[in-house]
Amino acid sequence: MSMVTELTIPMAQNWLSEFCKAVIELEDHLNELDAAVGDGEHGSNLSNGARALQESFKGPQSKSLGEFFEFAGMTIINSVGGASGALYGTLLLRLSDVTANKTTANLNIMSQAFDSALEGIMELGRAKPGDKTLVDALHPAVSSLIASVQNSDDLLGAFTKACHAAELGCAKTAQMEARKGRGSYQGERSIGHVDPGATSMTSLFKTLSNSIDFFSK
Ligand code: ADP
Ligand code: MG
Repeated sequence: MSMVTELTIPMAQNWLSEFCKAVIELEDHLNELDAAVGDGEHGSNLSNGARALQESFKGPQSKSLGEFFEFAGMTIINSVGGASGALYGTLLLRLSDVTANKTTANLNIMSQAFDSALEGIMELGRAKPGDKTLVDALHPAVSSLIASVQNSDDLLGAFTKACHAAELGCAKTAQMEARKGRGSYQGERSIGHVDPGATSMTSLFKTLSNSIDFFSK
């Protein structure tokens, strides 16, 4: 087993391609979760984006991670209705900014990139941790990545921990009351169900740690 220390363009492409597959498989489940807390189309919204993204992967390979993430972000923004399109698009555009002109990105860069994505999402959506949104999965994952940089964890170890942090954060959203987005219309009725966006965000980290694992073998 070879140790993978940096994210490469083929790995990034494998990651988002697996995320697209996961989102399409989760379409009905995400719609059901969104029906309990929102307007019932988070799965359909993201699946539209996933199909557009899969189509775009048939084009020529990007020359840098920045170019790859920028193209993916624009594709998501242009194909996903609902708040989640702008939020996931912002995440990918922030990854693009931090990895501009790079063909590889180590844990330090990836941690900065996800920290910038969190900042961009919180600026755009004005949600704070505890508001029952995808921030509740992303925020603990980013904190875990920052801790991993300090502990000099390897890339796979760091993203495996970040994925677990996202899963835990997502599970905790079941006890929260929605205050942002369309979920907020449901108020207290949203309690008892996990947030759909936190669920899809967890899948984003799960597919990333799986891709790093896959390329480590
Ligand atoms: P919409 O909220 O427009 O119906 P989706 O159904 O596609 O969009 O996505 C819903 C998810 O988006 C929610 O579960 C939540 O995680 C996330 N979300 C909605 N509004 C915000 C916001 N202001 N900040 C962060 N995340 C948000
Ligand atoms: Mg919705």
